[in-house]
Amino acid sequence: MVDRLGRRLHDLRISVTDRCNFRCTYCMPREIYGRDFAFLPRSEVLTFEEIARLARVFVAEGVEKLRVTGGEPLVRRNLPDLIAMLAALRRPDGGPLDLTLTTNGSALHQLAGTLRAAGLGRITVSLDSLDDSTFRAMNGVDYPVAKVLDGIAAARQAGFGPLKINMVVRRGINETSILPMARWARQDGHILRFIEYMDVGHSNGWRLDEVVPAAEIVAIIDAQMGLESEPPNYPGEVADRWRYRDGDGEVGVIASVSQPFCSTCTRARLSAEGKLYTCLFALDGTDLRGILRGGASDHELVAAIQAVWRVRADRYSELRSEATANRPRIEMFAMGG
Ligand code: SAM
Ligand code: SF4
Ligand code: SF4
Repeated sequence: MVDRLGRRLHDLRISVTDRCNFRCTYCMPREIYGRDFAFLPRSEVLTFEEIARLARVFVAEGVEKLRVTGGEPLVRRNLPDLIAMLAALRRPDGGPLDLTLTTNGSALHQLAGTLRAAGLGRITVSLDSLDDSTFRAMNGVDYPVAKVLDGIAAARQAGFGPLKINMVVRRGINETSILPMARWARQDGHILRFIEYMDVGHSNGWRLDEVVPAAEIVAIIDAQMGLESEPPNYPGEVADRWRYRDGDGEVGVIASVSQPFCSTCTRARLSAEGKLYTCLFALDGTDLRGILRGGASDHELVAAIQAVWRVRADRYSELRSEATANRPRIEMFAMGG
């Protein structure tokens, strides 16, 4: 399935909930997402059976990678049951299906072993600083970094490894954590990915001057630890990879703002309420839940997905400008990050 710019549908990000136990300042600032905020009622959230059916249809149509996300996916009750259902899916060409999860790590201590047993392939943990006070301030709920580190250790012990670690860099907030994170990840054998702070949603009050460009992040590490560019693992990989000149280890930078990669963007997103989005900055999605609950056959679902993907021409990050600054946008936790 190819879109209007020649991009094949390759990955599906599945949001299993819009809820989260964190209130990261760049994603769900707690002043806005307080006690009274109305998250989706349960009846509007796709059931595991509905998610698995949609995922099966996407995989039959050529999707090779499923990423379970949210909100915080591990706050969804019995998530390992869904993982087992997704792990049972098979690609029509017999190739491996990459099944992965992005989490804030807070529940990994309890769940890592069960997720592994259910057939989860890989885990990405988001971690913005090793400095406890910086981390507590960024996650918005005063959550201690030590507990996430316990979760990371539990994931390693359960057989997930190497882990990917995502760090969003925000100027003036956690730039000084770049080098300690690089040293720690290298020493412990994690693959660290620095993410430029993005203008997703509206509630984070994003400003361009808070973005630390990827080139600056690479320069900071290179000056102390020596880096050289590494080719991508596969065409269209979103992270630019850099390896340490004096031995093992690599870091990556995801430069969605300073060097957009829309031309190779092959990702679709399925929100917790069953909307299909073809861009993180899309203004609206297509209601697959309505089609599903209306009794559609697999054939009709395929037709609906094809009708969306084939006309897709999204390239928001390449067009980002003053003209796009005030456009309505959907929050990342609601669409699935
Ligand atoms: N709750 C899970 C987590 O934090 O890993 C999964 C969902 S979260 C929305 C997915 C990823 O999006 C996280 O790595 C998070 O750091 C990143 N993210 C959220 N808001 C962002 C922003 N404004 N700019 C860049 N990355 C962001
Ligand atoms: Fe929650 Fe993840 Fe958003 Fe942080 S980035 S508030 S952990 S959904
Ligand atoms: Fe893909 Fe949209 Fe991001 Fe461009 S802006 S890389 S099209 S999600």
